[in-house]
Amino acid sequence: MKIRKMQGISLIDYPNKLSCLLFLSGCNLACPFCQNPDLIKGEEGELDFTGVIEEIENRRRFIDGVVITGGEPTIHSDLPSLCKKIKEIGLAVKIDTNGYLLEPLKGLIAEGIVDYIALDVKASLANLKKACGKEIETGRIGNTVELLKSSPIEYEFRTTCVPTIIDEEEIEKIGKEIQGAKRWFLQQFRSKKTLDPDFMKIMPYPIEYLFELKERAKKYVKEIEIRGI
Ligand code: SF4
Repeated sequence: MKIRKMQGISLIDYPNKLSCLLFLSGCNLACPFCQNPDLIKGEEGELDFTGVIEEIENRRRFIDGVVITGGEPTIHSDLPSLCKKIKEIGLAVKIDTNGYLLEPLKGLIAEGIVDYIALDVKASLANLKKACGKEIETGRIGNTVELLKSSPIEYEFRTTCVPTIIDEEEIEKIGKEIQGAKRWFLQQFRSKKTLDPDFMKIMPYPIEYLFELKERAKKYVKEIEIRGI
């Protein structure tokens, strides 16, 4: 496992908890709007695993949980060991995932070593290939949506509202596909640094439009929030 960087404290990345963030290198998708291109290429250095665990222990008094993000955490076969270590310290574990690998997520839930999963729902199933930047088996992500909807742990679905990918019609389609979910976050797109440089030329939607999308989304999921504005 390559832990590329650590952010000591965050007020916003784990709902209702103070957390620290671990960024893992590498990803199995290539979303053109990805805002962590350096991370997904898996280049540059890595932090020492033992040092990271010690640092988390040192922060134990100030935080409630650890967010494991990326890149894509589930591509690392030793993710369960990291989650176990964090749980042993007495902290909650949140995983941010693209949901392409169902089995690792199933395993973490079954072992009781993850408390919260944030799943990217990047587009409707019909448009996922465009959003994910490569040929994918779209059914896999549909299966992860169903896994989380029926799982006992806390979860959220989240959609980055990228112009050219997400619009009102697309929100309606996604809404129908995730209907009945607990929570859906609509996130503002940031164009500062993206995997495909063409996406840096795309202007984010005005805030008012995000609220229009929220109104559409409310038909399908009770708890809708807008993030990043
Ligand atoms: S946005 Fe896409 S490419 Fe970037 S880390 Fe997430 S899943 Fe991977």
